[in-house]
Amino acid sequence: MGLRRSASLSPTWISQSLTWMLVGACLAGSAARAQTVGVGGADVVLVGGKVWTGVASDPVTQAVAIQGTHILATGTSAAMLKLAVPGAKIIPLNGRLVLPGFNDAHVHIQIGGANLVGVHLTDCKSQAEFRERIAAYAKTIPKGKWILNGSWDEQRWSPVALPTHQLIDDVTPDHPVAVSRTDLHMILANAYAMKLAGVDRNTKDVPGGVILRDAEGNPTGIFKDAAKDLILSKIPADTEADMETYLLATQEVAAENGVTSVQDMALSSTDPAGPVKLQALQRLEHEGRLKLRVAECLGLAYGKQMSELGIEEPFGNEMVHVGCLKSFADGGLGASTAWFTEPYTDNPKNYGIASDTMQHPEEMYAEFKLADEAGLQLITHAIGDRANHTILDMYERLEKEDGPSDRRDRIEHAQTLLPEDIPRFAQLHVIASVQPYHAIDDGRWAEKRIGPERVKYTYAFRSLMDSGAVVAFGSDWPVGPLVPLTGIYAAVTRRTIDEKNPSGWMPLQKVTVAESVKAYTYNAAYAEREETIKGRIAPGQLADLIVLSDDIFTIDPVKIDAVRVEMTLLGGQVIYTRGKPGTH
Ligand SMILES: [Zn+2]
Repeated sequence: MGLRRSASLSPTWISQSLTWMLVGACLAGSAARAQTVGVGGADVVLVGGKVWTGVASDPVTQAVAIQGTHILATGTSAAMLKLAVPGAKIIPLNGRLVLPGFNDAHVHIQIGGANLVGVHLTDCKSQAEFRERIAAYAKTIPKGKWILNGSWDEQRWSPVALPTHQLIDDVTPDHPVAVSRTDLHMILANAYAMKLAGVDRNTKDVPGGVILRDAEGNPTGIFKDAAKDLILSKIPADTEADMETYLLATQEVAAENGVTSVQDMALSSTDPAGPVKLQALQRLEHEGRLKLRVAECLGLAYGKQMSELGIEEPFGNEMVHVGCLKSFADGGLGASTAWFTEPYTDNPKNYGIASDTMQHPEEMYAEFKLADEAGLQLITHAIGDRANHTILDMYERLEKEDGPSDRRDRIEHAQTLLPEDIPRFAQLHVIASVQPYHAIDDGRWAEKRIGPERVKYTYAFRSLMDSGAVVAFGSDWPVGPLVPLTGIYAAVTRRTIDEKNPSGWMPLQKVTVAESVKAYTYNAAYAEREETIKGRIAPGQLADLIVLSDDIFTIDPVKIDAVRVEMTLLGGQVIYTRGKPGTH
């Protein structure tokens, strides 16, 4: 799904920015990776807590000793204090729980960051409120500037109804508008934006997309999936300075929520934003201003250049790395564009749609194969059961043709699965990268769309884990909140956000708190091939740690959502303390 598409980005320029990344990362990486553990003492020691290590042989201890950016040792408070050098920073935990920093395996920094600094529409309760917020925001920005993102959700409105351009035209006469639904699969454009894009009743339908029209055939302003590009292709691309603003806003929210690593997904297989983000990331890192580890997943179309440059996954350093490639097999359930083997229950004519790339499966497979042969990791969005089945088939074919290797190919969302496909994740070593918040969000209405049978294998975290698959957790932020504790609450309770399922929606698919923490730390690190340096509290691992207000392993799981992160350390440095703004 393309948020932005620029015709002006030259391949040379992209190549240059990737090469620049290559040089920068080599320089930075050599110093960071050479660090060894055990020489000298600890300069930071956390004592007197309950430290959940993620290490099976020693799951819980009292204290952690940190040397520089890495963990030196774990053990009793007395033993760790003995390692402290004179003047070391001693952090008393007072019994509180310490976890490895959370790693969100699926975020969208560009839109999430833009949302933080732009119009806020998610919690609107009606069309009137939606209109008022857009009107108020338009007054704060220069004429002619686009109003974008917003993450609106008509399912929260009373009454539930998709908006039309007429709702906002008279309050946005001087601003083109293309605000996105929370699932990113549809936008609402105003008359100004449609005029700029030359879209009217004569505009033809787009393969892989939908233009909603009124009884006379005029576009209503709603554009789904590939049709969104009719409008979004007219938006000027975000600059490096824009990306910097988004990154800085993102890392602040991340630190408050205990997120020390994110895996940032391209918005389409040709999304040009990745290289621009890489430039902003690299500059922030060189200036020492980056406080969040980022795996940048470029669109699949960049595979050719990356293979020509000899970049393999993961390439970079401990702050930023590249080498995974994102693509899409279908749309989303909210927009009824997720691709199924059987039609939608509420629309027997609709099976959903394959993505624009998936419209030409052999070409898509050829791109997969090129990337696979170059040692790059494939990350593919699949929501409907047919989309998941088709991608599993393609991954299986890669293994047959190119032989077994430690690929760590992933399916993002893995939302609704054919029961017979569940064991294939473990058999084919395909990582299920899932977002528990989606389950308690979509769980409100998914059964209306796909009926009572298919929902049993929707967000099937229990079945996937039991089958032996590696399940990594993420948020899909800004589709879900960048709050892993809410994700853990969702995975453990499965209580939908409308509070209509107090015992859990599809309760057989609940998982435990420990499984959820592992999915948000070690498994997420494994999914980005970084489990040797992060995801556990163990000697030699990066000192990315969080301190929580309550012990999520012992409290009533229903209360996990209210637990707060009290402190976040990134590479041994305290980057957030609750109640002390400016610590990050
Ligand atoms: Zn996503």
